[in-house]
This record gives sequence, structure tokens and C-alpha cells, in this order.
Amino acid sequence: MNDQDRRGIGMTSARTRDRLIETLRDAGIANADVLERMREVPRHLFVDEALASRAYENTVLPIGHGQTISQPYIVALMTEALIENRQLPVKKVLEIGTGCGYQTAVLAGFVQHIYGIERINALLKQSRQRLRSLRINNVSLRNSDGYGGWPSQAPFQGILVAAAPETVPEALLTQLDEGGRVLIPTGPSGRQVLLRITRRGNDFEHETLSAVSFVPLVSGRTT
Ligand code: SAH
Repeated sequence: MNDQDRRGIGMTSARTRDRLIETLRDAGIANADVLERMREVPRHLFVDEALASRAYENTVLPIGHGQTISQPYIVALMTEALIENRQLPVKKVLEIGTGCGYQTAVLAGFVQHIYGIERINALLKQSRQRLRSLRINNVSLRNSDGYGGWPSQAPFQGILVAAAPETVPEALLTQLDEGGRVLIPTGPSGRQVLLRITRRGNDFEHETLSAVSFVPLVSGRTT
């Protein structure tokens, strides 16, 4: 990738990105660092070239294999909800459903290391390449079923799940550090909510952040 690719051209220009940032601010994203990161990360490089001109619209786009790149607003909201008002630095984050790697790239600017799990290996390989070409190096990716989490790297200060299970998988809660947070959409299609669950000893405090629409969390993996 050359510098021009990285900066973005035409429909992916600075003006187009500024408009997206305005939209996110109007929608309630207040954290200036998150907004700046959303401006910097080149979303057009995470979608097919044919869709690049739509990359800075606040919409979901297809990424192949029946999956989607999350809406920018949702990526900003989850990032903000994971990092805001933290007493301690966020060292390790587990991300489930890396997909095209866009959320990973945004979050990588705020945490020491991300452990990303994706069940579709073809998507994972592409993400690995993209993140490498953007010189985002604080990420480890693995092709497996996120329902089990990543026990050998636990505990995590944050867990971000980008696909919706019907109920919160127990294994994820046990891999959370004291004071750690899980951001997870749950519920059946059409009635999902985004939850933030914070660990306080053996108690788990639940907050409902927003109504959302994610692809389902699916068991197993494709190699
Ligand atoms: N984070 C992405 C959104 C990806 S969509 C972004 O930034 O746009 C959700 C992803 O979750 C899909 O790629 C899907 O394959 C993956 N997924 C679904 N169930 C999974 C599971 N059990 N384990 C790991 N990944 C899963």
C-alpha cells in the first residue's frame, strides 16, 4: 500500500471523514480521543474496493461470507464504553468476532494488547494482513470459536463481543479481571440490546446501553 492509499482519495477524503465525525458527535459520541481515532483509521481499507466510496457512511456494509463490517457509530460507542472512566490502564482486551478487523484497529489505539478471535478463517487472514499493513502490531489473532474465550490469556480488563448470543456466555464472565468490562449484544434478532457488564468481585453489574442489531454469534469455526 502506498501513502495515497493510506490517506484516502476522492470519496474517502478528509472532508468525507469529517462529515462522519460530525454524525458520530451528533449521535452522542463525546470522547474526543475516540472521535479522532475514528477519523484516523481508514475504514475504506477494510471493505471491498467496490464499496470504498461508501466506507465513511454511518452504515453496515457486507464483507463477504455472510458477515458485515459494523456501523461506525456502534464501533465508536463500544470503544467509548470500554475505555471511559477507567481507574487502571486497559492492558488486555479480548475481542470476539474480529471480522474485517476494523473495530480491532480502532480499539488498538487505546489498549496495550488485543486478543482477537474470529470463527471464519478467511476473514481472519485478511484482517491479519490489513492490520499488519497499517502497522498495528499490538494484536494477536486466532481462528476459533469465541464462546470459550481465550483462557490462557485471561484475565482481561475488557471483552468486546461483535456478534450476538441469546444469553451471555458464562466462560467470558469468568475470564474478566476485577473491575473489567464486557461489551456484548444479546438477545434474539430484532430485539437485541447492547450490555455493559462490570465485574465487582463475584458480582456482575449490568447496564443496558442501546438497542442494536448484530449478526448472531455462531458456534464452531471454519478453517
Ligand atoms: N468486528 C467487526 C464486525 C464483524 S461481524 C467489525 O469491525 O466490523 C461479527 C463477526 O463475528 C463475523 O465475522 C463472524 O464470523 C464472527 N463470529 C460469529 N460467531 C463467532 C464465534 N462464535 N466466534 C468467533 N467469531 C464469531
